[in-house]
Amino acid sequence: MTNVSSTSRTSGTTVRAAVWREPRSPLSLEDVWLADPASGEVGVRVAATAICGSDLAYVDGHWESPSPAVFGHEAAGTVDRIGPGVTDLAVGDRVVVTLIRSCGSCRKCRAGAPVGCSGRFALDERGPLRDAYGSEIWQGLGVAAFAEAVTVHRSQVFRVGPGIDLDVAALLSCAVLTGVGAVRNTARVAAGSFVVVLGAGGVGLNVVQGARLAGAAEVIAVDPDQRRLDAALRFGASATVAVGEDVPEEVRAMTKGEMADYVFVATAAVSAIETGLGLLARMGTLVLVGMPRSGARVSLDPVTVASTGRRILGSKMGSAKPARDIPALVALYGEGRLELDGLITARYALSEIEEALGSLRSGDALRNVIITDESLIA
Ligand SMILES: [Zn+2]
Ligand SMILES: [Zn+2]
Repeated sequence: MTNVSSTSRTSGTTVRAAVWREPRSPLSLEDVWLADPASGEVGVRVAATAICGSDLAYVDGHWESPSPAVFGHEAAGTVDRIGPGVTDLAVGDRVVVTLIRSCGSCRKCRAGAPVGCSGRFALDERGPLRDAYGSEIWQGLGVAAFAEAVTVHRSQVFRVGPGIDLDVAALLSCAVLTGVGAVRNTARVAAGSFVVVLGAGGVGLNVVQGARLAGAAEVIAVDPDQRRLDAALRFGASATVAVGEDVPEEVRAMTKGEMADYVFVATAAVSAIETGLGLLARMGTLVLVGMPRSGARVSLDPVTVASTGRRILGSKMGSAKPARDIPALVALYGEGRLELDGLITARYALSEIEEALGSLRSGDALRNVIITDESLIA
């Protein structure tokens, strides 16, 4: 178990960050103080951070957050500061930074499930960011990468080789890990399966390509937006259905009357969960990937769920083991079997973050990436 350090965090640097203060008010670019890494921690100069739906859920107030906060958790960069006790990273290493903080020694970590880690960390007790008045700024989702640099726990950082640009690699740390992992780790989709994916955004498209990689017989993407359905076909969907059509009837026709062995809910729309239950075959599995707003409730018919042997699984961060999964994903990308470049709709400077958030909010973007340091990307 990592001991909570009593470090007072007196040494640090000033970095530019996009600070959130209240829902629906613009992020403000501020110079904030970032603590140097303490024992077991690492500092990373951020090259690029992709904007995830979770960031938007916090910014828009759909999820509760302490204020002020800096969000951004889908990041990549280079190691620039190393805390005491970290011996397996060097300054200059190109890395992906994830929100998955794991101690390596709790029950879940020992069972090989770092996303379920119950360890406590010094960074949980006291985050590394302060505003100009010395008040703590919440390190959103344990990363706070809408900034020039981050200080994180060693376990959150994964080295990547030279075969991938860092703006593309950033996507691995959340969208791709979550989407592909939901298929391979959480659901363990078998070859020949009938798969339906509800929601074809940044995560949903990665569920689609994960299902294709798993050898699914049919991968049916469902979304209200025709542009996303077109993207789903490029990512390996065998068919698409627009929301508004008779989705159960379409799925029935495409699965020869069997319905879906797996339905992945990769949207925050609560209604999709109930829709998804209605698309399952006997013994079928519903996988909850997207996160609705806090307090959402769904109704289900337990008799049908039990008598048809259906399963409902929650997928946290694709049940990822990043130390295993990130290198595997980089290898698939290198072999041309994993599409990443096509996930990026546009690139923005940190000063343009409001524009980038707006384009994601409107549904126009799959992933928008904030480029914080162009010189580190390639
Ligand atoms: Zn995310
Ligand atoms: Zn742990």
